[in-house]
Amino acid sequence: MKDLAPGLQQRREQQLYRSRKIQQGMQGVEVVLDGKNCLAFCSNDYLGLSHHPDVIKAFKKGADCYGVGSGAAHLINGHSKAHHALEEELADFVGYSRALLFSTGYMANLGVMSALLQRGDAVLQDRLNHASLMDAGLLSGATLKRFEHQNFQQLSQKLQQTRAQEKLIASDGVFSMDGDIADLPKLALLAKKHQAWLMIDDAHGMGVLGKRGGGTVEHFSMTQDDVPVLMGTLGKAFGCFGAFVAGSEALIETLINQARSYIYTTALPSAIAEATRVSLKLIREDNWRRDRLKSLIAQFRKGANELGFEMMSSETPVQPLMLRSSEKAIQWSEFLWEQGIYIPAIRPPTVPEDSARLRISFSADHDESHVIRLLDALDNMPR
Ligand SMILES: *Cc1c(COP(=O)(O)O)cnc(C)c1O
Repeated sequence: MKDLAPGLQQRREQQLYRSRKIQQGMQGVEVVLDGKNCLAFCSNDYLGLSHHPDVIKAFKKGADCYGVGSGAAHLINGHSKAHHALEEELADFVGYSRALLFSTGYMANLGVMSALLQRGDAVLQDRLNHASLMDAGLLSGATLKRFEHQNFQQLSQKLQQTRAQEKLIASDGVFSMDGDIADLPKLALLAKKHQAWLMIDDAHGMGVLGKRGGGTVEHFSMTQDDVPVLMGTLGKAFGCFGAFVAGSEALIETLINQARSYIYTTALPSAIAEATRVSLKLIREDNWRRDRLKSLIAQFRKGANELGFEMMSSETPVQPLMLRSSEKAIQWSEFLWEQGIYIPAIRPPTVPEDSARLRISFSADHDESHVIRLLDALDNMPR
């Protein structure tokens, strides 16, 4: 049994130590963290639905109706009418044949890859894909081939070189730490040419992109035929918890029968499903939250540009400020914290070496004055 203390000490020295702040009360943009009032620009609650009164009401009603725990896995007797209705509504929302609920996005990714791939197959991943896609690929036993971020020439070469029977290309729809949108048309073209699966993890696009919030696939006016495996999470723009995979009838039946992270786990609480159904309705019907996000993002980018910050090319609520060194990212984050603004420093291994950053994220709960406060605080930064 090794002594764990030196490893922790080393992390501290490398400015890579991670710790948590304790939040009091309701999730939102004005929150109490470690007992201090602050304005947060870091959550994935992009539409502010985590505390919408109608969503909370549906959650309470769901608990009254179904109890708290679902009691069993979906394949035993944990699959409720609420889960089933949500699956049908999600499939309709994204325009796919079927959708299947998973307990988390992490588990959905593990489930898909372990059901579709085995040793000898190939999984092609964008270098900046989310850790859960990377872990899913490793767990599946398939050979991992990483390509440079959005480098389709390199992806094409790797597809040509592989002799694997079964190939799966996986990409974030909106890259979680960079905010840029994957070029789905190019990915779909290559996938079709090489008869590979294309799997898009749209954790950060779902609800946010597309005229009706359908995500990256809707943004590019694409369909199930172009992106046969679509994963969306329910804990980000939906403000709830859980995830789903959308695909063909055969894909969903295969996942029900073979995805181990689907089969061997307790179903989500039905009250969460009921809350998510209301959240979905708000996402579909209300465009104003997406419009508001767009105007906040434009206001921020214009202001940051005028202050001389070189922002990365992102049109989504994820607006990273690249600082490279972990030390600098911590300094900046602490400086903002002293001014009552919370944006944690994102450091390796969440992002590649020498690319520590402040991952600024916006929510429809923010208003213009919040953006001005953020810009003022950034302007005061000793640079
Ligand atoms: C958050 C996230 C996940 C994991 O989803 P959870 O439901 O939080 O487990 C997967 N992929 C991406 C790109 C994410 O950002």
